[in-house]
Parts: sequence; structure tokens; C-alpha cells
Amino acid sequence: MILSRWIGPGLAALGDLLLPPACAVCGALLDHPAPAVCPECLFGFEHLSGPGCYRCGQPYPGAGLCPDCRDDPGHLGKIRSVYVFDGALQEAVLRLKLNKKTRLASFFADRIAWADLPDMNLRAQDYLVPVPLHKSRLAGRGFNQSQLIARRLSRLLGVGSAPYHLIRARPTLSQFQMKSKRARRDNLMGAFAVTGGHPFTGKDLCLVDDVVTTGSTLGACADALKQAGARRVVAVTVARTIQHRSP
Ligand SMILES: [Zn+2]
Ligand SMILES: [Zn+2]
Repeated sequence: MILSRWIGPGLAALGDLLLPPACAVCGALLDHPAPAVCPECLFGFEHLSGPGCYRCGQPYPGAGLCPDCRDDPGHLGKIRSVYVFDGALQEAVLRLKLNKKTRLASFFADRIAWADLPDMNLRAQDYLVPVPLHKSRLAGRGFNQSQLIARRLSRLLGVGSAPYHLIRARPTLSQFQMKSKRARRDNLMGAFAVTGGHPFTGKDLCLVDDVVTTGSTLGACADALKQAGARRVVAVTVARTIQHRSP
């Protein structure tokens, strides 16, 4: 980890090939390059479990839909996530995006494929559609983590991946900075578009992203896909932020 910092994130991926296998999260040395995460970090990844809203998947003790989903039905059928975005898992997502630990994308795809996601059959989807980055962000990072996850997931599940037809037409501010639902919606207005020649008409699609926070980004993607003629849009993410944790 120290060496990776010293040589800078641009060379970190190369360093991973030259150095002995190490945990992609904490840097502890591993006996074997796979899996990319040491048992201790893996133990710190908290599974999203217990009763959840049928639609957005956030923890909700009541039956059916949480108040957010009741107020705003939208075009997104449901969202399912494997982990809670917190602790070691949060660190892992940052390592993937900022330190270019791209082997974590494969690791996360494996976890999604093996997860028992309630009321979600990923193999029944026609296409996996990664949430796109704007080209300026893509140029800065060099890769789209959601696209890497979707590519591997596509191979594991035998479901096609369609990474190029849903695009981010303009850059947006981070949804974390948006306080109100209205501000989040305005920030995303017209942000996503579907290009011509797309294969989405009449198809069942599953959006793929690393983290879901409020669901407004996934919702805006679903709007664009439905407008392009998709039959049904659902979403799967590695992790979800939990707004209100029960004591
Ligand atoms: Zn570790
Ligand atoms: Zn909900």
C-alpha cells in the first residue's frame, strides 16, 4: 500500500502486477492473488439484510413500499444491493475508483453474481446497462467502474452487457452535495440520453452501479431507458447508503 502511494495511483495497477499479491483494500500480503480482499477486510463488509422496501431495497420494517417510493413511483422497478456502504466496504469502493484497484471490480461482480438478492433474477434480464460516466470524468479516471463490474457480471451470468448506448450527456454535480429531492432532480434533468441504434426496445434491462445513495441517478437512467422503449428497468449495485439506521 505504501509503495502504491509512493509511485502514485497512475502506476498502482502496474505495481499490482509486479508486487507480491496484497489485499486491494488494506494492503496486507496474501498467499494467493485471488480473491483480491483479505479475510479481515471481507469480514468487515456488512451485508444488506433484513426487511427492506420492495422497490428501492432500503431497510424498511413495514410491508411493501417505503414512504419515499410511495411518494415517487418513477420508472425504476426495483433496486437490489449486496452490501451496506460503510466501513471497509466504503474504503474498498474508494480504492477501486481513486486508486485504480480495478481487480476489485471483478471481485464485486463475483459477489453480486453469488448474492441471494430478494425478488431479483439477474439471469432473466435481456441486458445489463452500466451507469455511464460523463466523458470528462471518464478521461480523468481512465475507466468506468460500473462498466467493469457489468462486463464481468455479464460473463458470469450469461446475460448481454450494453455499455455504450446509455450516455451521460452532460456533467453533473455529485448527488451527495444536493440537499433536497428537488435539487437532485434538477441536477439530473436531461443528464442521461440514449443513442440511436440501441437494442433496448421492448427489453428488460438491469442498470449496474457501484453505490446507490438516494436512487435519483438510477431513476434518471431508468427514465431515459423507458423513454427509449425499454419494457422494464431494474437495478443492482454493490452497495447502498443507509439513511436512517435503527438504533
Ligand atoms: Zn485487507
Ligand atoms: Zn423504497
